[in-house]
Amino acid sequence: MSSELIKTKVIGPVIIITAPSGSGKTTLVKYLLSQFPSLNFSISATTRTKRPKEEDGKDYHFVTTDIFQSFREQGLLVEWEEVYPNQFYGTLYSELTKIWERGNIVLFDVDVKGALALKSKFNTDVLSIFIKTPSLDILRERLKKRLTETEESLEKRISKAEQEISYAHSFDIVLVNDVLEDAQQQIVDIINHFMTQLKHTWKHDATNL
Ligand code: ADP
Ligand code: 5GP
Repeated sequence: MSSELIKTKVIGPVIIITAPSGSGKTTLVKYLLSQFPSLNFSISATTRTKRPKEEDGKDYHFVTTDIFQSFREQGLLVEWEEVYPNQFYGTLYSELTKIWERGNIVLFDVDVKGALALKSKFNTDVLSIFIKTPSLDILRERLKKRLTETEESLEKRISKAEQEISYAHSFDIVLVNDVLEDAQQQIVDIINHFMTQLKHTWKHDATNL
């Protein structure tokens, strides 16, 4: 993989936010983006259907399965996962390059498998945060409230969440998203601390990857 990353000329810091679906990743990522202008969201490509409030090119690059397949074949993806059956998600190299060239920090919102894969790919400053709800019952309630899932898709997400939670210990920080305002403050403190600890900053040479 390191040789793949040499495709990007500039390498910089990354923050990976992961969690089972419904734990509050999107909510916290949006909050972080509003608080830290130097954090830039890595817009993934996905084959899933756009939700009513989402915008193409802002929340995701919504693409057909054929286009996604062609990204894979051309080696344009840093990582990709079939997160749910027939729903592919992946990170384009071009997203990272764009962000690092601006001198900014990449913020990922990815599933747990993708986060584990990404974590091992960067030999730069990496911070990984796992977000969880206080319980699975609360996760179910929040997914229901979001009203984006059918009953079947809700059950798929809950059963996947149970497996994903078992990987929480693999990440630098586990943040429990109970009272939203508290979780927001905690994640801001975590990011501020990370920013003061940055060692490598931005490299124009990929030999150390
Ligand atoms: P994810 O991106 O991890 O799938 P979302 O950010 O979409 O999760 O959050 C799932 C739902 O839970 C949304 O309706 C969101 O508004 C709500 N939510 C997020 N955090 C909290 C919280 N701390 N308390 C109550 N509801 C929350
Ligand atoms: P949703 O459909 O709720 O937006 O996202 C479903 C899951 O896919 C979430 O856990 C989200 O973080 C994850 N995801 C989004 N983009 C990517 C990506 O590029 N790679 C991987 N592996 N997962 C992603």
